[in-house]
Amino acid sequence: MAATFHKAQPKNDSLVRLLGVTKMYKQPDNYDIRVLDDINLDIQPGEFIALLGPSGSGKSTLLRIITGLSDPSYGTVLYRGRPIEGPNPHAAMVFQSFALYPWLTVQQNVELGLVAKGVSPDVRRGRAIELIDLIGLNGYEDAFPKELSGGMRQRVGFARALAVDPELLCMDEPFSALDFLTAENLRSELLDLWLESRIPTRAVLMVTHGIEEAVYMADRIIVLSKNPARVVADLPNLLPYPRNRKAPEFVQMVDQVYKIVTGWDDDEEDEAAPEAELAVPSASLANQSPDEERPRLKPIPYGHISMLSGLLELVQDRGGHDDLYRLGAELFLEVDDLLPVTETAELFHLAEVSEGDLFITELGRTFVEGDINDRKAIIRDQLQDVPIFRLIQRVLHTKANHSMVKEFFTDILEEHFSVAEADRQLTTAINWGRYADLFHYDTDTEQLYLDEDQTE
Ligand code: ADP
Ligand code: MG
Repeated sequence: MAATFHKAQPKNDSLVRLLGVTKMYKQPDNYDIRVLDDINLDIQPGEFIALLGPSGSGKSTLLRIITGLSDPSYGTVLYRGRPIEGPNPHAAMVFQSFALYPWLTVQQNVELGLVAKGVSPDVRRGRAIELIDLIGLNGYEDAFPKELSGGMRQRVGFARALAVDPELLCMDEPFSALDFLTAENLRSELLDLWLESRIPTRAVLMVTHGIEEAVYMADRIIVLSKNPARVVADLPNLLPYPRNRKAPEFVQMVDQVYKIVTGWDDDEEDEAAPEAELAVPSASLANQSPDEERPRLKPIPYGHISMLSGLLELVQDRGGHDDLYRLGAELFLEVDDLLPVTETAELFHLAEVSEGDLFITELGRTFVEGDINDRKAIIRDQLQDVPIFRLIQRVLHTKANHSMVKEFFTDILEEHFSVAEADRQLTTAINWGRYADLFHYDTDTEQLYLDEDQTE
């Protein structure tokens, strides 16, 4: 593991200590993508921490590093003051996807962690039966995962994690694959086990994208940014248990976290985005004249224009501004779903987000009141300033046949983003470009092209 940092004084009572943890992933073309950037974090015994952050921000990556399943590129992970090497035997993980072995029974799945620890079969069996009982699955010891509902499978996931008596219990969106009621039951059961100290776990670290879930369960909430992930907020949640979702203090806490999650982007915007993170490989844009400013491919949010239009219309009808948390709740949208749309609105200068409220701008009002052609014209105008569109436009206008295969742009984008992110970026760009009549796209030949009107 890489060198230690001397940023903070080591606290002897920390269970986990992250010092300057940075993670880069190498892309096929050898460009590095920085997913985690300089994460410093202490986890103390007794803490139940919720880790919030947008999809793709690096939450799962961070969990894997903390549990020793993956190494940081730079920085150090200490467990009880010692650098960890390889999987941490004191940590256990619960996955969103349950990750059970289909050919093993419930009992055998629960025993798995103990097999790895070399526990004798008798002790293993006894321990598994206790855990299966604790987690409310008695009678299902010999069942196979496929015979169980999603909620029961996740109970097995918990029992398996708890069987090794982990000091640190890590959970990666453990409730998000479950239906509402099942998730709610499991949440409160797990919380009871924890609060009543019926499990020997010393600290819990739960990744979630549900703000309410975080406020309901955790006593500390950490918010990560994206591209790369940094800690943008780390706040205590002092509401007494059991928590009541309808209590004004609860609603206020949710609102506060919501403001942080929706607001960090504004603050981040002002700091010049570090060039190194999105280094533009000169080869791919070699045709540019040298006096032109070298564009930086800033990621675009994945907002759908139809959703954007709908949201703006709704907010306009309510007097031009509304509380994002309330809007999300009414539209049954998680912040993860709503944010790309509000970010798109901001990118196009149609709205501004401030302190958790969305405000429609003058241009936004013109957009809402306009017909489809007015709207297209506004988006077309706004896209002129977005680097990815400048790139597409330049290529299509320069080429003699005004046509280019999508793959070409994919290759360029993959030098800036991960493969999955590059695909999402391009899909969004194509959708916006087609909406704005900037170019056409033929899904059969996978070509972007201009028709005669567009080449002028
Ligand atoms: P989250 O859990 O917050 O949704 P992840 O930690 O899964 O995010 O991923 C963060 C980013 O790192 C994503 O852009 C993802 O594509 C990229 N990534 C994750 N694992 C790998 C890997 N093994 N190789 C390359 N890129 C990866
Ligand atoms: Mg994840």
